[in-house]
Amino acid sequence: MREKLRQIPSVSSVLSDTRISELMTEFSAEAVTDLIREQLSHIRSTVDSESEIPTILEISNQVSDHVKRNWSHWPRTVINATGVVIHTNLGRAPLSTESMEAAVDSSKTYSDLELELGSGKRGSRQARISQLLSSLTGAEAGFVVNNNAAAIMLGLSALALGKEVIVSRSEAVEIGGGFRIPDVLKQSGAILTEVGTTNRTYVMDYERELNEDTGVILSIHSSNFKIIGFTATPSISDLSNLGTSKGIPVLHDVGSGSLLDTTKYGLAPEPRPQESIAAGADLCFFSGDKLLGGPQAGIVIGRKSYIEKLSNHPLARAFRIDKMNLAALTTTLIHYLKEEAQNKIPVWQMISAELDDLRTRAHNISTKIPSSDLYSAKVIGTKSTIGGGSLPGETMDSFGIQLTVKNPENFALKIRTATSPVVPRIEDDAVIFDLRTVLQSDDDTLIASIAYSLQN
Ligand SMILES: *Cc1c(COP(=O)(O)O)cnc(C)c1O
Repeated sequence: MREKLRQIPSVSSVLSDTRISELMTEFSAEAVTDLIREQLSHIRSTVDSESEIPTILEISNQVSDHVKRNWSHWPRTVINATGVVIHTNLGRAPLSTESMEAAVDSSKTYSDLELELGSGKRGSRQARISQLLSSLTGAEAGFVVNNNAAAIMLGLSALALGKEVIVSRSEAVEIGGGFRIPDVLKQSGAILTEVGTTNRTYVMDYERELNEDTGVILSIHSSNFKIIGFTATPSISDLSNLGTSKGIPVLHDVGSGSLLDTTKYGLAPEPRPQESIAAGADLCFFSGDKLLGGPQAGIVIGRKSYIEKLSNHPLARAFRIDKMNLAALTTTLIHYLKEEAQNKIPVWQMISAELDDLRTRAHNISTKIPSSDLYSAKVIGTKSTIGGGSLPGETMDSFGIQLTVKNPENFALKIRTATSPVVPRIEDDAVIFDLRTVLQSDDDTLIASIAYSLQN
């Protein structure tokens, strides 16, 4: 053992390797040296009498691989060929070109984020977005934080601290990524009161629970699951009538916050924020990066008096949205005011893509995949989904490429780790590239990555 340990190269011997000197011209010499030390100490702690001790060359290769893999831009862009439009693992909604440019512009220099240029006095980063949200939804005011989970937490903390929050038993759910309504309620200092049953809840169930300790009525859209069959849920307008008559605010979490009518695209209806407000919700909550198609954000719209309570709460500062997101969100909302959302916002471009165009693109791509005895590519009809906890069970007809290879998992690994990574899905033992979620401008890159992964 002692002999083995003695064979481990010294830090200075690894430092003298040319590969390491090259790294040191690009990166901090101190950080590279630390990395070598870590690598050597890892070898020392795992060595046993059977171990092959790596050479200086091998160690410098490991260090250099680590640097190339980890000390580079991240997250890497990938081509989403899964057919899932809002894929949380792939960063949810891609931004429109204009929204992306707005985020870049806002970040590369100073801005009037919190300064009124006219008076030279301090301004609010929320004023502009509040007006835009009002114009779009008819709500009195709006307020934006980092994400919808934070928005709901803020809403409950500001309006229901130490009070009861009435929730239907069918809505005390887990939304995903560990966001559980009962836990959020507990954290916000509110007390959960469940009413009704798992499948049926009526207005009278809420009414029976109202008392002097009631803080708010909370309704949560079942975005990522569906209860079918013998079910009943009161409408927001019924809940709002009850709330108004008893002076209790009604909070409505619509989840995705589609401003467009999903039924126009052959999909099931998704509750729209403007409908929630029209039905009388006092506050309506939704995400910026789901069907709205903007950056990560949590948006609250509704009555001015309640919005003010939220904005004055200490958590509002903790959940404050940053200027890049705010700039991108502003531009995204303006797309809706210009009635150009379908043509400019990627998630709506994808949802509204014409089947004929998808088929043509699939055909073009398949003809460019060199054929072989080892694999075959063909155009297939397939089904895309919305994802991101929106419209569960809903699919859209689509077209894609079906690639039959000997080992689909192995091929998927290769193409995910290619120079231009592609994330496909595997179905019936074949690799599927669904073109609905591939930006048309990426078709050539997709072809190149497929060809590369077939050859290597
Ligand atoms: C997605 C979702 C959330 C969480 O939104 P984030 O913006 O991801 O924090 C909350 N409620 C519902 C109903 C959702 O669908």
